[in-house]
Amino acid sequence: MDKIQLQKLRDLPIEGVAERLGLRVKHHKSLCPFHADSHPSMSYRVKTNTCRCFVCMSQSIGPIDLVMRHLNMEFKDACRWLADEHNIILDEWQPDPTDVAPQPFDASRYEPFFEHPWLNEAARKFLFHERMIDPRVVWWCRLTSWTDRKGVPWLQIPYYNKEGQLVGVQNRNLVKGALPRFRFPPGAECGIYNLPVLNLLKPGEQLFITEGASDCWAMLSAGHKAIAIPSATLLTKKDKELLSQLSSTISFHMYPDQDEPGERLFLQLQQVLPNLQHHQLPKGCKDFSEFFTLRIKD
Ligand SMILES: [Zn+2]
Repeated sequence: MDKIQLQKLRDLPIEGVAERLGLRVKHHKSLCPFHADSHPSMSYRVKTNTCRCFVCMSQSIGPIDLVMRHLNMEFKDACRWLADEHNIILDEWQPDPTDVAPQPFDASRYEPFFEHPWLNEAARKFLFHERMIDPRVVWWCRLTSWTDRKGVPWLQIPYYNKEGQLVGVQNRNLVKGALPRFRFPPGAECGIYNLPVLNLLKPGEQLFITEGASDCWAMLSAGHKAIAIPSATLLTKKDKELLSQLSSTISFHMYPDQDEPGERLFLQLQQVLPNLQHHQLPKGCKDFSEFFTLRIKD
C-alpha cells in the first residue's frame, strides 16, 4: 500500500465509514459502540475527519482506527476492509509491477474464455442492474464470468494492448464485501484498460480517462470513448509515452472522483498530459459510475 492509497483511506468521510459499520449518525452524533451507550456520546468532526466518545475515549480517532476497533481488526485488514467497501483498488490487488514475472503471462490459456463470453447471474446483476452498463459495452469489453470450486462467482476482465493482443486478466469477486476482491493470473499486465479503443479515435476526438475498469464501462455506456488508469503511480514509462504521443491529436478529459485523492490523480496525470481537461461531477456524486447510474435511473 503506498502513501497515496493510505491517504485515500484516511480521507474517507468519517460519518460514512461509521454508517458502513452500522452506526446511525445523526447531527454528527451516534451511540458509542465501545461502551454500553444509551444516549449518543460519540461525536463526529467532519472538519478533522475524526470521531470521539467523550465517555470512554481519551482522544479522537480517524476512519482506519474506527474500523480497527469496531471490527477488531489489525491495521492492514482494516485498510483492506475500507478499500473494499469504498471501491478503492489497493496496489496489493494489482499485479506487483516490481515482480520480475518468473512466469510470463500465458495468453493462450485465457483467450478461449473471451471468445465465447458468458455472464452468470451474479455478473448480470452486477453489470446490468447495479451498474446499468450497456450490453454493447459488455460485448466490446468481452467481459465474461466463471465460478470457482468454492462456488464464488467472478467477473473476468480481459486487458488487451492497442494491437488487440491479450496481455492480462483481472478477476473481480462478485460477492459483495468478499475478499480478495481482485485476482490476477501470473504475469498479467493490467496497466491501461481498454487500449483497443485508441484505434477508433479520430483526430480531434475526445478521450476520457477514468480511474478503474468499472468507471470506464460507465463512461463507454454514456457514449464516450474512454480508457482506465489504475493509478498514476502504476503508470509505466511505456504507458506514459503512449499517452503523451496521443496528446498531440486527441483531447483528454477527466471527471476526477470527488475527493482529494481524485484531484491528486488528476494533477499527476496532467503532468503527463498538459491538455487534460477537468470536468466537475455534480455535488454528492463520488465518481462517474454513481453519476451515470443516477442519471439512468431518473
Ligand atoms: Zn464510548
